[in-house]
Amino acid sequence: MRRHQHPFNGKRFIGNNNTNEVHDLDNEKTRCEIDKILLNHVKTFIPDTHSEAKRQNFDNCAHCIGNSHY
Ligand SMILES: [Zn+2]
Repeated sequence: MRRHQHPFNGKRFIGNNNTNEVHDLDNEKTRCEIDKILLNHVKTFIPDTHSEAKRQNFDNCAHCIGNSHY
């Protein structure tokens, strides 16, 4: 579920700068624990794409994207 407040701003792909994982909020699972990410760890991408997150070396969340490297 996308979140429209700051710092999520309605973006689909949300990175966690602490774990270096990227989540797909359009396929969010309870185990993603998005609401436990500290707001100052929330990273959004421009453009808001999975490929941009990968380009910035974020790893996939195993729950909402899969094929996690770790
Ligand atoms: Zn996730």
